[in-house]
Amino acid sequence: MTTTIAETVAERLDNDGYEYWAERLSGEPVTDPDRTAQIDLDDLCRHLGARVIRRDGWGIRYVFPDGSAIIDAGSAWDIALSPDCWCWQGAGHGDECTARSSDLGD
Ligand SMILES: [Zn+2]
Repeated sequence: MTTTIAETVAERLDNDGYEYWAERLSGEPVTDPDRTAQIDLDDLCRHLGARVIRRDGWGIRYVFPDGSAIIDAGSAWDIALSPDCWCWQGAGHGDECTARSSDLGD
């Protein structure tokens, strides 16, 4: 099974949706002089080539070149469940999600 870029980012953050700082690897940008050994989620995603999409009331979606995505709601983040909606992989589709019915095969 191939690991997506979003999964790689999640792993760097210990798969903890409340963690926003990862250990910085060589070659990654340093933007915060107080945390030079670390890189935050936003910089990490941008460094990995993410396209940044903002949506009012939802947060930020980082879409990577391989099609995988991370959705940051502001105080927590997770891997995107589907390219068709803003639901989290760990939470499943919400009741009001429009992509929900297609996933149920109906
Ligand atoms: Zn959904």
